[in-house]
Amino acid sequence: MGGTARNKDRELRGIAGYESPYPYLDRLQLKMEERLAHRVPAAGRFCGFCYGRLRESDSECGFCAASIAEAGTVAEIPQDVLRAYKVRQKTESRWVYGGAFAGLVIASLAFVTMVTWGPGPLGHPAAAFAMLIGGGYLLAQLFGPLIGGQAGYRRGARARDAIWARHLAARETPAGNPVAQQDGHPRSPS
Ligand SMILES: [Zn+2]
Repeated sequence: MGGTARNKDRELRGIAGYESPYPYLDRLQLKMEERLAHRVPAAGRFCGFCYGRLRESDSECGFCAASIAEAGTVAEIPQDVLRAYKVRQKTESRWVYGGAFAGLVIASLAFVTMVTWGPGPLGHPAAAFAMLIGGGYLLAQLFGPLIGGQAGYRRGARARDAIWARHLAARETPAGNPVAQQDGHPRSPS
Protein backbone atom coordinates (compact mmCIF):
# COMPACT_ATOMS: atom_id res chain seq x y z
CA MET A 1 0.00 0.00 0.00
CA GLY A 2 1.29 3.46 -0.84
CA GLY A 3 2.18 6.06 1.74
CA THR A 4 -0.19 8.59 0.16
CA ALA A 5 -3.21 6.32 0.44
CA ARG A 6 -2.35 5.72 4.07
CA ASN A 7 -2.10 9.45 4.82
CA LYS A 8 -5.40 10.11 3.09
CA ASP A 9 -7.09 7.48 5.26
CA ARG A 10 -5.60 9.09 8.33
CA GLU A 11 -6.99 12.48 7.30
CA LEU A 12 -10.45 11.08 6.70
CA ARG A 13 -10.47 9.39 10.07
CA GLY A 14 -9.13 12.52 11.74
CA ILE A 15 -12.23 14.44 10.65
CA ALA A 16 -14.58 12.25 12.63
CA GLY A 17 -12.14 12.08 15.53
CA TYR A 18 -11.71 8.33 15.63
CA GLU A 19 -8.75 6.47 14.27
CA SER A 20 -9.42 2.78 13.75
CA PRO A 21 -6.61 0.49 14.86
CA TYR A 22 -7.49 -1.57 11.77
CA PRO A 23 -7.32 0.86 8.80
CA TYR A 24 -8.12 -1.90 6.29
CA LEU A 25 -11.63 -2.23 7.78
CA ASP A 26 -12.47 1.28 6.55
CA ARG A 27 -11.14 0.37 3.11
CA LEU A 28 -13.40 -2.69 3.12
CA GLN A 29 -16.54 -1.02 4.49
CA LEU A 30 -18.18 -0.11 1.16
CA LYS A 31 -17.28 -3.47 -0.39
CA MET A 32 -18.84 -5.26 2.55
CA GLU A 33 -21.96 -3.08 2.32
CA GLU A 34 -22.30 -4.16 -1.33
CA ARG A 35 -22.00 -7.76 -0.20
CA LEU A 36 -24.57 -7.19 2.60
CA ALA A 37 -26.98 -5.73 0.04
CA HIS A 38 -26.40 -8.81 -2.19
CA ARG A 39 -25.17 -6.63 -5.03
CA VAL A 40 -22.16 -8.92 -5.47
CA PRO A 41 -21.96 -12.74 -5.35
CA ALA A 42 -21.42 -14.25 -1.89
CA ALA A 43 -18.89 -16.76 -3.17
CA GLY A 44 -15.54 -15.79 -4.56
CA ARG A 45 -11.89 -15.67 -3.67
CA PHE A 46 -11.18 -13.63 -0.56
CA CYS A 47 -8.08 -12.70 1.42
CA GLY A 48 -7.56 -15.19 4.26
CA PHE A 49 -6.62 -12.37 6.60
CA CYS A 50 -9.12 -9.52 6.03
CA TYR A 51 -11.66 -11.17 3.63
CA GLY A 52 -11.22 -8.53 0.95
CA ARG A 53 -12.14 -9.78 -2.52
CA LEU A 54 -9.09 -10.70 -4.59
CA ARG A 55 -8.48 -10.52 -8.30
CA GLU A 56 -7.03 -13.59 -9.99
CA SER A 57 -3.70 -11.87 -10.50
CA ASP A 58 -3.28 -10.64 -6.90
CA SER A 59 -0.30 -11.97 -4.99
CA GLU A 60 -0.83 -9.34 -2.29
CA CYS A 61 -4.17 -8.27 -0.83
CA GLY A 62 -5.24 -4.82 -2.07
CA PHE A 63 -6.93 -4.03 1.26
CA CYS A 64 -4.62 -5.22 4.04
CA ALA A 65 -1.44 -5.85 2.00
CA ALA A 66 -1.08 -9.41 3.33
CA SER A 67 0.84 -11.81 1.15
CA ILE A 68 -1.72 -14.21 -0.34
CA ALA A 69 0.76 -17.09 -0.23
CA GLU A 70 0.96 -16.60 3.54
CA ALA A 71 -2.60 -15.53 4.44
CA GLY A 72 -4.29 -18.03 2.11
CA THR A 73 -7.72 -17.56 0.58
CA VAL A 74 -11.27 -18.35 1.62
CA ALA A 75 -14.35 -18.83 -0.58
CA GLU A 76 -16.80 -16.91 1.60
CA ILE A 77 -16.81 -14.10 4.16
CA PRO A 78 -17.68 -15.38 7.67
CA GLN A 79 -21.05 -14.25 9.03
CA ASP A 80 -19.65 -12.61 12.18
CA VAL A 81 -17.35 -10.50 10.02
CA LEU A 82 -20.24 -9.36 7.82
CA ARG A 83 -22.18 -8.53 10.97
CA ALA A 84 -19.38 -6.20 12.11
CA TYR A 85 -19.74 -4.13 8.93
CA LYS A 86 -23.51 -4.17 9.24
CA VAL A 87 -23.29 -2.79 12.79
CA ARG A 88 -21.08 0.04 11.53
CA GLN A 89 -23.50 0.85 8.67
CA LYS A 90 -26.68 0.68 10.80
CA THR A 91 -25.21 2.73 13.64
CA GLU A 92 -24.23 5.52 11.31
CA SER A 93 -27.58 5.67 9.50
CA ARG A 94 -29.44 5.59 12.82
CA TRP A 95 -27.51 8.66 13.96
CA VAL A 96 -27.99 10.46 10.64
CA TYR A 97 -31.78 9.89 10.62
CA GLY A 98 -32.10 10.55 14.34
CA GLY A 99 -30.18 13.81 13.98
CA ALA A 100 -32.24 14.92 10.97
CA PHE A 101 -35.42 14.15 12.90
CA ALA A 102 -34.20 16.22 15.86
CA GLY A 103 -33.52 19.11 13.45
CA LEU A 104 -37.09 18.92 12.12
CA VAL A 105 -38.52 18.80 15.64
CA ILE A 106 -36.59 21.96 16.56
CA ALA A 107 -37.83 23.73 13.40
CA SER A 108 -41.42 22.68 14.20
CA LEU A 109 -41.14 24.02 17.75
CA ALA A 110 -39.75 27.29 16.37
CA PHE A 111 -42.69 27.42 13.94
CA VAL A 112 -45.24 27.03 16.75
CA THR A 113 -43.37 29.58 18.89
CA MET A 114 -43.31 32.14 16.07
CA VAL A 115 -46.99 31.75 15.19
CA THR A 116 -48.04 31.88 18.85
CA TRP A 117 -45.77 34.56 20.31
CA GLY A 118 -43.84 36.07 17.40
CA PRO A 119 -43.86 39.90 17.53
CA GLY A 120 -44.81 41.89 14.40
CA PRO A 121 -43.78 40.34 11.06
CA LEU A 122 -42.09 37.40 12.85
CA GLY A 123 -45.53 36.30 14.02
CA HIS A 124 -46.90 36.31 10.48
CA PRO A 125 -47.73 32.74 9.42
CA ALA A 126 -45.85 33.23 6.12
CA ALA A 127 -42.61 34.10 7.96
CA ALA A 128 -43.07 31.18 10.32
CA PHE A 129 -43.80 28.87 7.41
CA ALA A 130 -40.71 30.02 5.52
CA MET A 131 -38.68 29.35 8.66
CA LEU A 132 -40.26 25.92 9.01
CA ILE A 133 -39.28 24.91 5.46
CA GLY A 134 -35.88 26.64 5.21
CA GLY A 135 -34.87 26.20 8.84
CA GLY A 136 -36.15 22.63 8.87
CA TYR A 137 -33.99 21.81 5.87
CA LEU A 138 -30.88 23.46 7.32
CA LEU A 139 -31.32 21.99 10.80
CA ALA A 140 -32.00 18.52 9.37
CA GLN A 141 -28.77 18.79 7.35
CA LEU A 142 -26.82 20.10 10.33
CA PHE A 143 -28.02 17.56 12.89
CA GLY A 144 -28.30 14.69 10.39
CA PRO A 145 -25.36 14.16 8.02
CA LEU A 146 -23.01 16.61 9.70
CA ILE A 147 -23.32 16.08 13.44
CA GLY A 148 -25.17 12.74 13.51
CA GLY A 149 -23.00 11.36 10.74
CA GLN A 150 -19.80 12.03 12.66
CA ALA A 151 -21.09 10.68 15.95
CA GLY A 152 -22.53 7.64 14.18
CA TYR A 153 -19.29 7.05 12.32
CA ARG A 154 -17.28 7.03 15.56
CA ARG A 155 -19.69 4.78 17.44
CA GLY A 156 -20.23 2.47 14.50
CA ALA A 157 -16.52 2.14 13.76
CA ARG A 158 -15.76 1.38 17.44
CA ALA A 159 -18.44 -1.32 17.52
CA ARG A 160 -17.21 -2.82 14.24
CA ASP A 161 -13.60 -2.81 15.41
CA ALA A 162 -14.58 -4.55 18.67
CA ILE A 163 -16.32 -7.34 16.74
CA TRP A 164 -13.29 -7.65 14.45
CA ALA A 165 -10.95 -7.85 17.47
CA ARG A 166 -13.08 -10.71 18.87
CA HIS A 167 -13.02 -12.42 15.46
CA LEU A 168 -9.22 -12.15 15.32
CA ALA A 169 -8.88 -13.50 18.84
CA ALA A 170 -11.17 -16.45 18.11
CA ARG A 171 -9.42 -17.18 14.83
CA GLU A 172 -6.01 -17.21 16.46
CA THR A 173 -6.94 -19.28 19.49
CA PRO A 174 -6.92 -22.79 17.98
CA ALA A 175 -3.48 -24.35 18.18
CA GLY A 176 -2.08 -24.96 14.75
CA ASN A 177 -1.35 -22.50 12.06
CA PRO A 178 -2.23 -18.97 13.10
CA VAL A 179 -2.74 -16.91 9.97
CA ALA A 180 -1.99 -13.58 11.59
CA GLN A 181 -0.07 -11.96 14.36
CA GLN A 182 -1.81 -11.04 17.60
CA ASP A 183 -1.77 -7.30 16.95
CA GLY A 184 -4.38 -7.45 14.22
CA HIS A 185 -2.04 -6.60 11.40
CA PRO A 186 -1.20 -8.98 8.60
CA ARG A 187 2.32 -10.29 8.49
CA SER A 188 4.39 -8.36 6.07
CA PRO A 189 5.66 -10.55 3.28
CA SER A 190 9.16 -11.74 4.09
ZN1 LIG B 1 -6.47 -8.75 3.05
